[in-house]
Amino acid sequence: MNKYGKTSVKIEYLLKGKLKCGYCGLSMNAENGTARNGERKYYYKCWGRKHGTKCHKEAIQKDLLERIVLDEITNQLNDKNNVNVIVQGLMALQMKLNKENNALNNLLQTKRQVDTALQNIMNAIENGIFSNTTNKRLHDLEEQQANLEKEILIKKSKTAVVLSEKEIREFYEQALRLEPQMLINYLVKEILVYDDEIVIKYNTPTTISPDESQGFSFYHKTLKFAYKVRQRRDMKKFEIKIEIRV
Ligand SMILES: [Zn+2]
Repeated sequence: MNKYGKTSVKIEYLLKGKLKCGYCGLSMNAENGTARNGERKYYYKCWGRKHGTKCHKEAIQKDLLERIVLDEITNQLNDKNNVNVIVQGLMALQMKLNKENNALNNLLQTKRQVDTALQNIMNAIENGIFSNTTNKRLHDLEEQQANLEKEILIKKSKTAVVLSEKEIREFYEQALRLEPQMLINYLVKEILVYDDEIVIKYNTPTTISPDESQGFSFYHKTLKFAYKVRQRRDMKKFEIKIEIRV
């Protein structure tokens, strides 16, 4: 279990640098102010809204947003089924990304063709067919083969290491052993904040880095809760959709 509940009060602006306004795409930054009764208030506010753009994003209480994010992350990571969905999804994605890594595949294919051509020439020579032409062809092919081998070696060294299922799982399980600030830094790539929806994007192991179109969503939840707003006597009810994706 993560012990964030015990330490979060001391940590200021846990989500600093990770928040983006869902409406205008600008960052949401730490803000604080003093209420009329002298009480300090802490929140996150859209940079665009603060600087007079037309963005309508409401500021959100710091504690509230941090609690939602940490609760959802830890609940989701503690659920083996959810972790399985990420791991399987990333395994499939890794395979797809590697297939798309065509450069190496092309080289390997060319090398197979050269190998075959060389073998054919060798067979011909063994069968007594030998001329200046076959000799030159033999030389050319041997040179091509040597160059291809060199290139393949270089390309292979640059190709991403393929991670095992266990290694991918460990990347996410490790996150649960971290304190809140470390956990956020390690696991969270970005959080899109709307007034009624929060989209948390996870980091992936560095060798698997999907772009926007390749990422996938693996956790959905609608949170219903109520909290006290100063000006109102009753509790204000909220419904927020949570999505977590890579
Ligand atoms: Zn905004």
